Amino acid sequence: MKFCTNCGNELIDDAVVCPKCGSIAGRIKTVGDSRSKAWAIISFLFPVLGLILYLVWRDDRPLRSSSILKGFRAGFIVMLIPIVVCLLLLIISYIGMLITTPSNIHGF
Ligand SMILES: [Zn+2]
Repeated sequence: MKFCTNCGNELIDDAVVCPKCGSIAGRIKTVGDSRSKAWAIISFLFPVLGLILYLVWRDDRPLRSSSILKGFRAGFIVMLIPIVVCLLLLIISYIGMLITTPSNIHGF
């Protein structure tokens, strides 16, 4: 037994619309669509796969694709950190090279 969320009228279990006030009793979910931690983790570990799955499921399975997008964002940020660190190291070592290059010391 369930109750109308709008007026509190008692409803039969598979009622879609409340007979008293006409409001929709419970959201109609797409079959197979739900928020999923597993998919979030998969797209966290494999951001490229996550991005593809997100694009494929964006329209058909909005709840699952939003989970995937969360995992993708987290995975993308984690993936960016080593790239940024490498770039910084490159810049630092390049500057260091410019400063300590012999031609700069014994120039002309
Ligand atoms: Zn109602």
